[in-house]
Amino acid sequence: MTDIAANLAAIRARIAEATARANRPAGSVTLVAVSKTNPAEAVVAALAAGQMVFGENRVQEAAGKFPPLRADWPGLRLHIIGGLQTNKARDAVRIADVIESLDRPKLAAALAEAMAKEGRRPDLLVQVNTGDEPQKAGIARAEAADFLRACREDWGLPVQGLMCIPPAGEDPRPHFGFLAELAARHALPVLSMGMSADFEAAIACGATHVRVGSAIFGSRA
Ligand SMILES: *Cc1c(COP(=O)(O)O)cnc(C)c1O
Repeated sequence: MTDIAANLAAIRARIAEATARANRPAGSVTLVAVSKTNPAEAVVAALAAGQMVFGENRVQEAAGKFPPLRADWPGLRLHIIGGLQTNKARDAVRIADVIESLDRPKLAAALAEAMAKEGRRPDLLVQVNTGDEPQKAGIARAEAADFLRACREDWGLPVQGLMCIPPAGEDPRPHFGFLAELAARHALPVLSMGMSADFEAAIACGATHVRVGSAIFGSRA
């Protein structure tokens, strides 16, 4: 059995150390516990250990797990972090507090329409494909500035920051650095970067949110 409370405590301690090493204020990094593929009982164990912010990849999976927990845990915050199909935009807007995977004009239009219909405006992060990898989600580096402008000005979307997943097997730091600079240039306060294997490097580069799954919940099947 995975000891979720102990894993959470260890990750929190490492986040605190990395934050201090970077000369950043204590508490300036939010841990997003990525609970994808794990059952609701695992989420409840994390909630009982004081973890309030969660990330899920798939809207359908999140819709099954999270809404029933909100009555008992009103402070719960759900981030959708996986690739989002336009036909899931409305469900995502209904259940999420933050959607981290805005990455293309069609999805921006779908989210704007969904927000108008639902009367709900979750915060949005634009996902940037910092490695310009053909198979990976995210707006291309060269298109990011124009896309950010269009999201905010043309669609009136509540974009609060940026998210990235650096290429596997590469030093992630240049990617984190690129994302941090892009956020600063656009006055965006939120930087979601870093996962189980590299969250300390992300904190050194300015991450405000780290998305940690397997180091808390154990390796996924
Ligand atoms: C699964 C996932 C994570 C967490 O990955 P771990 O390596 O398990 O920490 C973070 N971000 C995204 C977008 C993910 O899909």
